[in-house]
Amino acid sequence: MAQTIWIHKLVDAKKADAEGMGYICEHLFQGLTQSEASLTKTKGWNPVPDATTKDGSTYAALFCDSCAKNYNNGNVRMAKEAVLDKDGYP
Ligand SMILES: [Zn+2]
Repeated sequence: MAQTIWIHKLVDAKKADAEGMGYICEHLFQGLTQSEASLTKTKGWNPVPDATTKDGSTYAALFCDSCAKNYNNGNVRMAKEAVLDKDGYP
């Protein structure tokens, strides 16, 4: 079974840093919250405009290299917690 890829919603202010993608994978999310800076490309930089969840919803998401490799249609899930606040940090 494919590994689940968790994505986190970005606030509008951060979308510009993610090439307009509205969501990022948990690894990029962790890098963003730890560095207290903008997104970095150290873990990879793979825009996926139509990342698809199990129920068929699609999201414009930015994946790290490992998530991009693991991605299969339907194995993306929305993280319920840790939506970034208006300042871009949890
Ligand atoms: Zn990732």
